[in-house]
Amino acid sequence: MKERHPKARKYGKSTRFCRRCGQYGAVIRSYDLLLCRQCFREVAGKLGFRKYD
Ligand SMILES: [Zn+2]
Repeated sequence: MKERHPKARKYGKSTRFCRRCGQYGAVIRSYDLLLCRQCFREVAGKLGFRKYD
C-alpha cells in the first residue's frame, strides 16, 4: 500500500487536515486550531481548555 493521505470527503470542502499530525477526518476548526480530536485533547489541556478532560 502506498503511503498517502486518504482524502475523506464526508464534509466536502470543509474537510481539513490536522496541522499537527496531518491526518484527515474530524478536525476541529474551533478557536482556529485546525487540529484533530486527538491532538486537540493534548493541546487543549496546555491551552487551558477543559472540555475534553
Ligand atoms: Zn492531529
